[in-house]
Amino acid sequence: MKTVSEPSSNSLAHLPVVTLKKRRAQPFFNQHPWVFAGAVSHINREPEPGDEVVVRANDAKFIARGLFNPNSNIRVRLYSWDKKTPIDAAFWSARINEAISLREACIDTEQNSAYRLIFSEADGISGLTVDRYNDWLMVQITSLAISERAELLFDLLMERCQPRGIWLRTEKGIREAEGLECRDGLVRGEEPPPSLTIRENGLPFLVNPAEGQKTGCFLDQRENRRAVASYVARHRVLDAFSYAGGFGITAAKLGAAASVVCVDSSESALDLARANAEANGVTDRLEFVRSDVFQYLEQCRDYGTQFDTVILDPPKMARQQKGIPNALRGYHGLNVLGASLVKPGGLLVTCSCSGQVTREDFRNVLAEVSTTTERRIQILEARGLPADHPVSPNCPENDYLKCFVCRVN
Ligand code: SAH
Repeated sequence: MKTVSEPSSNSLAHLPVVTLKKRRAQPFFNQHPWVFAGAVSHINREPEPGDEVVVRANDAKFIARGLFNPNSNIRVRLYSWDKKTPIDAAFWSARINEAISLREACIDTEQNSAYRLIFSEADGISGLTVDRYNDWLMVQITSLAISERAELLFDLLMERCQPRGIWLRTEKGIREAEGLECRDGLVRGEEPPPSLTIRENGLPFLVNPAEGQKTGCFLDQRENRRAVASYVARHRVLDAFSYAGGFGITAAKLGAAASVVCVDSSESALDLARANAEANGVTDRLEFVRSDVFQYLEQCRDYGTQFDTVILDPPKMARQQKGIPNALRGYHGLNVLGASLVKPGGLLVTCSCSGQVTREDFRNVLAEVSTTTERRIQILEARGLPADHPVSPNCPENDYLKCFVCRVN
């Protein structure tokens, strides 16, 4: 573990130097934070995992200060493009402050008690994501260097946010990718209760932050749920891949939808959706179906069942570049089925959370869907992430969410 009193210096002389290959430096001058192993030419000393290093171009020009990980394909994560600003406690404190000030400015906390406080690269803290659920913070660590500084970061978060507790969760696969050893669970204060009622768009939703999917719920769709609700008065709505019913219940409650069918393959997700329907007093208009969405959509097609609004919010379909063609085929098939169930003049709300699939790719999928189904599709809103999930133009990889609200004629 790195300690708070770790000597930091604004001189570069004591730091190991990572020199990049020729013609590989431009993205990093442009503040892209991930230096992959393939871009590195040589390293002048042997830095320990998590150590601060200086990254230089092949002609020795200073690029940035970063943190080293010999075990990860992301060999160095860059944090400070200023020679004189070391990556020390004062640095983390300033970045955390900045991130939290943004949320204080952009989140209506009367309406929303759960939101993202820190979003990794987008907040200049590659490897750290923090979500607030009422009085608890859920922390996800995705880099070794951040996990080595975790105690300091937890202290800073306690001081700045004064939560009742901080809970750590690590996403699948990250431990292996980064060589992490951190253990999930309570790291500060009290445990969050297994069922926490948060407010979203003014509506109550139950979440289990320690065990639910992601850090308890999909905070990234908050604004999209509200936007979709504004179209669905008196609609018969299909909420496919519903998880806890976020889209469907918001449609029923804020949007006055006539009825909503929530479909998910996970019984525990549907249990949560049922509890949320109850908490919002809309059980009379909601139906819950445990099924594979593809099978359900095919059944509807075969029976001629149609909806005024079909919402498709599937899990990530591509994790890596090489998975893109398969993902595009998957989105095509799903959206062909989805669009064919929309009544003429109705709505298709289609989402993709695969960061590898660009907005343009996804729009092209819809163009093909339109051709295949012989239905004219109009994109009314091309939506994405809300302000508490900002996007860094230097690291567009984080701009993962697409949510297109379409009219299907
Ligand atoms: N729309 C949700 C988030 C969806 S997350 C919201 O607004 O919060 C994706 C959901 O899809 C998960 O709940 C998962 O259980 C479900 N899922 C994944 N594959 C599925 C499949 N083939 N059929 C049905 N549900 C599936």
